[in-house]
Amino acid sequence: MILAIDIGGSQFGLALATPNGRVIKHIQHQTNDHADKRIDRILAESKTLISQSPVLACGIGFGGPVNFDTQHIVNSTHVAGWDDCPLPKIVEQHLGVPTIIDNDANVGALGEFTFGAGKNNRHIIYYTVSTGIGAGIVINGEIYRGGNGYAGELGHVPILRDGPQCDCGNRGCLEALCSGTAIARRATAAVQKHPRKGIAITRVANNNPITAKTLFDTARSGDPYARALVDEICTDLGQGLAIAVNAFAPDIIVIGGGVSNAGRVLLQPLRRETRRFLMPVHRPHLKIAPAKFKSRSVLLGAVALAKQRIQH
Ligand SMILES: [Zn+2]
Repeated sequence: MILAIDIGGSQFGLALATPNGRVIKHIQHQTNDHADKRIDRILAESKTLISQSPVLACGIGFGGPVNFDTQHIVNSTHVAGWDDCPLPKIVEQHLGVPTIIDNDANVGALGEFTFGAGKNNRHIIYYTVSTGIGAGIVINGEIYRGGNGYAGELGHVPILRDGPQCDCGNRGCLEALCSGTAIARRATAAVQKHPRKGIAITRVANNNPITAKTLFDTARSGDPYARALVDEICTDLGQGLAIAVNAFAPDIIVIGGGVSNAGRVLLQPLRRETRRFLMPVHRPHLKIAPAKFKSRSVLLGAVALAKQRIQH
């Protein structure tokens, strides 16, 4: 068995899985705990999980930058107390299990590459579009980490000069325009500006704040204004994807994260808009697929990562 751990901004998940990616048990918790308390909970729950069946290794996907070489968490922009935390070492000391960690976008990419929508390819790029936009690049079956270990930040390619402020400190990044948060903000602003055109979106929101899901649901019902807004967002997102395709020529792009739950209403215009920005040589090969595991990509990737830990 393998122990897989997914640590996000406001949740953590644990899974017990076979080395070939079959999840036997899965636990998920919402939490606002700071790092120390969360580590205690993760260790306690892990102990209970592995008491039933011995595990060979543990893989962790963390929602923030990780120094892969030193196996330290760098920090978290969402949760206090993670600065320079050697989490794998702590887990090894408490559970006696070889442990390995990487940031969750890389781990999610590995999960989809090994067991999911990217299976049977050599090169994939994985995007997770939710609160932010994370990405992982797999080249020749391995995560591409670059010279300093922090490669793959395709959510922060600049799309719009002097565009909206991004969490990274720059302006006009793909994330600042097309994350779930940004889509909600854009749809809300559009409806405020054109309340009559946006009437269907307002109706779907039903007195709740407009979210990305509100917009996609309205577009799916055929509303022309919602469709036009989705097209605009797909133009920006497609520009970001085209930069990656022109640079890396992946066999497939896999889109995960909450926004990917929109399905066809997102993917169809996204394929069309991405193709528009590609060099002609890349156009016939473009493949964009939704993630297979949705919210479980990171856990499945943690299984694949843990297998690497055993092999090394
Ligand atoms: Zn940015």
